[in-house]
Amino acid sequence: MTLHASYDPENIFAKILRGQMPCVKVYEDAVALAFMDVFPQSEGHTLVVPKAGMARNFLDMPGDWLGSYMLCVQKIARAVEAGLKPDGLRIMQFNGAAAGQTVFHLHFHVIPVWEGRELGRHGAGAMAKPDELEPVAAKIRAAF
Ligand code: AMP
Repeated sequence: MTLHASYDPENIFAKILRGQMPCVKVYEDAVALAFMDVFPQSEGHTLVVPKAGMARNFLDMPGDWLGSYMLCVQKIARAVEAGLKPDGLRIMQFNGAAAGQTVFHLHFHVIPVWEGRELGRHGAGAMAKPDELEPVAAKIRAAF
């Protein structure tokens, strides 16, 4: 059901894109906005949100926008890697509530992974405060 519903412009990421809700920003250009996940699964968990397309998920994204958006996802992933030096990175994306999607505006997760450190659960755990996220975001921003 949630895989095929219509786009709701009141979703939280649309509000962040419009500047109506705060975020700890990592990167912004004409194509996408990247910011820290407030329920990070690891230090540096970053979300990359496309500005155009009004797409709820990957299936909805108009092809014309996809290439530039995916380049942006890669750009953020490279900066996360360069800024935080993890041992690995997970790039994740969920489509529909049944698959674990909780915010219905397309986004990719960039999640740094360190050997011996367990990842938190998706969409669970304690909400991080902006002043905890900001120093990590600063390291990523410095790596572009
Ligand atoms: P998904 O479940 O794939 O739709 O991912 C949504 C992600 O957004 C989750 O990892 C949440 O922790 C994160 N999230 C929810 N609200 C906010 C917010 N206001 N700012 C930053 N991240 C958020």
